[in-house]
Amino acid sequence: MATFKEFRNNVKPNWCPGCGDFSVQAAIQRAAANVGLEPENLAVISGIGCSGRISGYINAYGLHGIHGRALPIAQGVKLANRELTVIASGGDGDGFAIGMGHTVHAIRRNLDVTYIVMDNQIYGLTKGQTSPRSAEGFKTKSTPEGSIETTLSPLEIAMSAGATFVAQSFSTDLKQLTLLIEEGLKHKGFSLINVFSPCVTFNKVNTYDWFKENIVNLEQFPDYDPTNRIAAMNKIMETNGMLTGLIYQNKERKSYEDLVVGFQETGLANQDLSLSPDHFNKL
Ligand code: SF4
Ligand code: MG
Repeated sequence: MATFKEFRNNVKPNWCPGCGDFSVQAAIQRAAANVGLEPENLAVISGIGCSGRISGYINAYGLHGIHGRALPIAQGVKLANRELTVIASGGDGDGFAIGMGHTVHAIRRNLDVTYIVMDNQIYGLTKGQTSPRSAEGFKTKSTPEGSIETTLSPLEIAMSAGATFVAQSFSTDLKQLTLLIEEGLKHKGFSLINVFSPCVTFNKVNTYDWFKENIVNLEQFPDYDPTNRIAAMNKIMETNGMLTGLIYQNKERKSYEDLVVGFQETGLANQDLSLSPDHFNKL
């Protein structure tokens, strides 16, 4: 059985020292090993942004896609080869701005993909612009007078789109983050794991200390029931979206693949769907 070290490769991440994304990478590698995967069972598909580089830093199948399009690619990979465990990943700008249409529909489609968002509340790769996750009043080069737009709540959107698995964590809490990724990988359907992953270079507001002061860990509420959709929505709103832990899970609803009529019976899932060169010659 593979250990987490076997999910490492020899590519050195070029993230800034202290970037939260290092811990997310480590958590994915640990979780993959803990649920019994081998590198050849896993595909990591990422979008564009600093965090999008993560697919190149994990020893597994990987594709560094285009901006905001990690999810269409990841869903295609999963439909083409249901034997693969598929992780999609990227940043808050990637998934909640240009990619938001895909995010909402992937959530309601409920294909068996684990989507890990590294949420640093800014655009890091392009050197610090306001993202949909930035707070009102947030000053960057793109909003020098402070953002006048409302902050987007991915957790509320996920819940209202019919999500079957919603979790949130903090990159420094490696134990919680690893456990949540394990649960996401085991979940039969689409799982959203939003991770507060500070950008130490460009976001001087939402720092490690800021997150530590503002995060509300669900462990504080021993009676919290993550299968209660209304309670989940209430808790997200009460904590202004700052809660961490397993927020909601619906194990009753079947995944998209399991609802496609005839998919199992025809063996479509196991067919070789690759196209022969002859196919292209005929086009
Ligand atoms: Fe991480 Fe920010 Fe550096 Fe990008 S710019 S690698 S998000 S710390
Ligand atoms: Mg970002």
